[in-house]
Amino acid sequence: MNAITTIKCPQCRKEITLAGNPYRPFCSQRCKMIDLGTWADEGYRIPGEKAPESGDEEPGDE
Ligand SMILES: [Zn+2]
Repeated sequence: MNAITTIKCPQCRKEITLAGNPYRPFCSQRCKMIDLGTWADEGYRIPGEKAPESGDEEPGDE
């Protein structure tokens, strides 16, 4: 029987087979790394939350 299970890579939507694919459910190590966020080490940074600048003057309570 040729029951080949094919899926689509969650990253690039490329149709791949699960059989013999060490990177499943991804098509390649690259897509797997991207999904895991490993590529963050390659220079891509997610900007953190920017602290609001304290420029507002609090209303006096005089
Ligand atoms: Zn892919």
